[in-house]
Amino acid sequence: MTSASNASFKVAIIGAGASGIATAVYLQRAGIAFTVFERAGDVGGTWRDNTYPGLSCDVPSHLYRYSFAPNAEWSHEYSPAAEIHAYFRNVAEELGIIEKVRLSSEVTKAEFVGEGLWRITTTKGDEGLFNAVIAATGVLHKPVLPDIDGRDSFAGASFHSSRWNHDVALAGKRVGIIGTGSTATQILPAIVDEVASVSLFQRTPQWIVNVPNNPFPEEKKTAFRDEPQKMADLYDHLNNVFNQRFAASLVGENDEGLAEMARACRQNLEDNVHDVDLRRRLTPSYQAGCKRLIVSDKFYPAIQSPNARLVDTRIARIESPGVRTSDGLLHELDVIVYATGFDPFAFFRPAVIVGRNGLSLNERWKESCQAYRSVAVPGFPNLFFIGGPNSPIGNFSFLRTAEVQIGYVTKLVKLLAEGAHREVEPTEEATDAFNAEVEQAIKHTVWVTGGCTSWYFDKRGKVVSWPWSYGRFEADLKQPRMEEFKAA
Ligand code: NAP
Repeated sequence: MTSASNASFKVAIIGAGASGIATAVYLQRAGIAFTVFERAGDVGGTWRDNTYPGLSCDVPSHLYRYSFAPNAEWSHEYSPAAEIHAYFRNVAEELGIIEKVRLSSEVTKAEFVGEGLWRITTTKGDEGLFNAVIAATGVLHKPVLPDIDGRDSFAGASFHSSRWNHDVALAGKRVGIIGTGSTATQILPAIVDEVASVSLFQRTPQWIVNVPNNPFPEEKKTAFRDEPQKMADLYDHLNNVFNQRFAASLVGENDEGLAEMARACRQNLEDNVHDVDLRRRLTPSYQAGCKRLIVSDKFYPAIQSPNARLVDTRIARIESPGVRTSDGLLHELDVIVYATGFDPFAFFRPAVIVGRNGLSLNERWKESCQAYRSVAVPGFPNLFFIGGPNSPIGNFSFLRTAEVQIGYVTKLVKLLAEGAHREVEPTEEATDAFNAEVEQAIKHTVWVTGGCTSWYFDKRGKVVSWPWSYGRFEADLKQPRMEEFKAA
C-alpha cells in the first residue's frame, strides 16, 4: 500500500452505495484517510432502496461486481437484488470500510471555505473540514411520481416502485402498474400469479430482448471457486460484449450491432406474443436501443396471462376507485404501483454545494448539469463526482463505469494528499471544449436518432450521456491531463 504523505489529509465521500464503497476501497488502498457519509441506516444505495418483487440486475452477475472482488457464489446469471445488496455489504465489511461509514448522516451542505478545504454539514451537525469531497450519490435515487390529475384521491394503497410497501398484501387484489420500463416489466411477471388482476398502463411500448436468467449449477460455482482465472476471463468477455460491442452500437459506431439488436427484439415479439392485436399494441414505433433496452423472458408470457391486461389508452385522471382512461373507462383498483422512474439529474441533491466565491452548484447547473469529463466542475476545487453528468449510463455496468472514474479521481486526490497541489479544478476552457464535443457527438447516438424520448434527455431536450465508445471513456479517464486543470 502506498501511503499519502500528509497525515491530516482527509476526504469526505458522500454516499455508501455501490460507487461510494468502491471509492472508499480505492482511497484506502492509496493510503488516504476518508469518512463516508450515508443518509440511510444501511449501505447499498439503489440495492437497499429497491425491494420490489421480481427485481434482478439485467447486467450479468459476473460483470456486475467490483473488479477487485470477484464472487463465485452468484446464484443466477443475473443476480437477484437481495444478493447484490448482500454482496456490497459484505465487501464493505470484509475490506474494513463499514467502520468508516457514518450511517443516518445525510450531507445537507458542502461548502468550499478556501485553502483547499471543504466544510461538511450533515443532519447530525458540523462534521468539520475535509481536503476533498467525492460525491458518489448515484444516478437513479430520486423517485418521480407522475403528474396525473387526482393522484391523491385514490382510496387504495399506492407507492413508487422504489419505495415498495411490503405491508400491502397483493394476493387477490386488483393491481395497476403505471409504466413500462425495466422496473414495470419485472414487477408484472413477479406478481401476476398472485393477484386477482393486474392492469399495465402503457404510455409507450418498449423493445424487449429475450434473455433467460438461469441458475448457476453447483459445479459451475465450484469451478469458479477453484479456478478464479475463469471468473476473470468471464468478466473480460462480458465487459467486451456489453461495454464495448453493445455500447458501440448505441453511439453510432456499430450499425450492424444495432440492426442485430432490432432483429432480436422483433423476433422476440413475433415468437412470443401470439395475438396479432396485442402484438401491434406492444410494438414500439422507435428504434431498438433508443430507450433503455429491456431484458426479459418473462414479460411477454406474463402480459398474456388471463388476469393481465394491457391498457394503452391514455390515463385521463386518477379517482378514488381507480384509474380513468381518456375513453371514459374506469379501471377499478385496490393498489397502484408507480413504476414511473427517477430524476437522473438529482445527483447530490437535496444537499447544497457551495464552491468558490459563494456560487452554489444548483445555481451553476440551473440550465443544465455540465461537468468536465463527468467528474469535476470549474469553480468547485477538489470536488469530484462518481456517476456525474455525461457518465455512460443506461445499459452499461455502472460498477465498471464507476471504477474507471474512481481510478481517475484517486489519482487527482493523491496529488493533493502528497502535497503536489492544494487545489485542483478543471478550467472553464477545457470544460466548455468537452461539452461542445459532447453536443456534436451525441447527435449520432441512437438515443437521439432513434425517435423516442427517455430519461436520458434533460430539461433542455438534450441527451446527457457519454456519446462515444466505452474504449474512449476508459482512455479519456486513464490519466488526468493536468494542462486542463487549474492547480494551486
Ligand atoms: P423508466 O425507464 O424511466 O420508465 C418509466 C415508465 O413510466 C415509462 O414507461 C414511462 O412512459 C412511464 N411514465 C412516466 N410518467 C408517466 C405518466 N405520467 N403516465 C404514464 N406513464 C408514465 O423507469 P424504470 O422502469 O424505473 O427504469 C429506470 C432505469 O432504472 C432503467 O432504465 C435502468 O437503467 C434502471 N433499472 C435497472 C433495472 C435492472 O437492472 N434490472 C431494473 C429497473 C430499473 P414513457 O416511456 O412514455 O415515458
